[in-house]
Amino acid sequence: MLEPNQPGQVPVGQPQPPPDYANQIGEIFKKLPNEIHLFLFSNPGMDDVFSQSIRQAVRAFRDLTSKIIFREYPVDHEMAREWNVDAGPALLFEPDHYNIRWYGGPLGEEGRTFLELLIYIGLGKSNLSEQSLHVLRKIQEPRQVKVFVSPTCPYCPQQAVNAVKAAIERPEVVSLELIDIQCRPDLADQYSAHSVPQAYANDALIAMGAQTEELFMASLDKLEPQTVFIPEIESELVEVDLVIVGGGPAGLTAGIYAERSGLNAAIIEKGALGGQVALTPTVENYPGLTQVGGKTLVDIMVTHALEYTTIFPGEEVIDITIGSPFEVKTSRRRFLAKTILLATGASHRHLDVPGESRLSGRGVSYCATCDGMLFQGKKVIVVGGGNSAVTEALYLKNIGIDVTLVHRRDSLRAQEFLAKNLEENQIPVLWNTEVQEIRGEERVAEVLLKNNQTDDTSTLPIDGVFVAIGYEPSVELAKKLGVALNEDGFIQKDENHRTNIPGIYSAGDVEGGYKQIVTAAGQGSEAAMSIFEDMINPYWTKEKETVS
Ligand code: NAP
Repeated sequence: MLEPNQPGQVPVGQPQPPPDYANQIGEIFKKLPNEIHLFLFSNPGMDDVFSQSIRQAVRAFRDLTSKIIFREYPVDHEMAREWNVDAGPALLFEPDHYNIRWYGGPLGEEGRTFLELLIYIGLGKSNLSEQSLHVLRKIQEPRQVKVFVSPTCPYCPQQAVNAVKAAIERPEVVSLELIDIQCRPDLADQYSAHSVPQAYANDALIAMGAQTEELFMASLDKLEPQTVFIPEIESELVEVDLVIVGGGPAGLTAGIYAERSGLNAAIIEKGALGGQVALTPTVENYPGLTQVGGKTLVDIMVTHALEYTTIFPGEEVIDITIGSPFEVKTSRRRFLAKTILLATGASHRHLDVPGESRLSGRGVSYCATCDGMLFQGKKVIVVGGGNSAVTEALYLKNIGIDVTLVHRRDSLRAQEFLAKNLEENQIPVLWNTEVQEIRGEERVAEVLLKNNQTDDTSTLPIDGVFVAIGYEPSVELAKKLGVALNEDGFIQKDENHRTNIPGIYSAGDVEGGYKQIVTAAGQGSEAAMSIFEDMINPYWTKEKETVS
């Protein structure tokens, strides 16, 4: 079955990028030196959603460029045998040059991966940083990489693109399978990949979650997860007025306000932009937006921030040396900054019960939007009684999961509106109940529960445990710098968001307080304005003058 390459009309109803993006993408493709050959092997007689999304996306892009050559064959065709394709739908990218195949399609978040993949193939190079290239070039033995992803996971494209870059840069060594867990639940089960993204190389787990580009290459080299990347070569230097550590609502808002005040700012984010908001299924209390997906809200904020400021995603701050200026070392480069804003947010709290860490990614999850789809038709519990737990329980119920809320008290901390929703959706709640142990061999099989009023214990057979019990402030960097913390472990600051160290400020969830998206954004704006005023009229110089 051959589909002729016809750049022309896209049938009505097929996804097309909005006109301005379409032009920009068209211009990018025009500059690509190479043709991009795509081969889809689909299951005969089956018009699955993945094959459909591939066809639609290819047609939409092909309308912008004649460089994409697309052919489709049934999976029992001799071409499939030639390239060792034994199951469909599988999309092969330029198989004469690269060993990259995708079991799935550009649905949801994965559209970003698809576009980047096309561009790197068209370029014929990976655009990897010098440090990443340095590590990747050391690898001599073959690496068969598998990255498990899902269309609803905002972290997945970052990790998928890391693997794509490796496969494009070293095709003689690195082969890649991108595996959508909904398209290939058999492979997800075989690898016990019950959270995404998860990356394997030569069947060894090399990463759970998204990594920076350099950390991915280091994990690929060592064939085990790496958590710290020590740069081996001197990186480029960026000089700014303000370095903002953290790209959540506080950091993004601070970037907008700082630049609009005339300050030159840089936002550095090691993980997913948007922080916790990117993982929130639905936000219903951000003014101006009655109901919006967390990831959509993040995209809006990031797009807005990029109008003004520079964002360095996937880059981790490794060290800050206090001085004038501050020297900020990241996993990729150095920054010299007159001021620093710590908007590092907070990270998931753990239950700290037996089985939790061992079965993490094997049925224990901290992100319903990322991993929920894996549990469709199954039975899970959500632990917690706050806004996050209730929002996640509602989301899981909504996508067809049998969900029970387990809460340690007899009343919810969540807002009344959400509590009512929980009742209306008939989600059962186990009150006064604590999880004592999570059990299972390869995967979660049951939980041991204790009623803290009666001390009765019981077991509940279960497929998944979603832990939503709040967040701990991310203060490792603050502690390293000597920034004072309050008795609850959050950064101690004054009304101008100044910390105890002159020139270092804080904003957002790392300061404690109400921890709402709107309050984090407000704190980010306040901090940026305070920094602007202090830079014009530095309070630390005045303090020195008063002392002398
Ligand atoms: P939270 O409000 O701190 O609630 C944590 C919940 O987990 C509480 O019910 C707590 O129980 C329970 N918990 C804590 N430690 C536990 C443990 N070891 N074992 C069992 N249960 C435990 O956290 P959150 O729900 O993640 O929300 C964090 C912040 O984000 C909040 O300020 C929230 O309002 C905000 N948020 C906002 C939105 C939104 O605006 N749309 C959405 C989600 C979250 P107790 O009640 O007994 O303390």
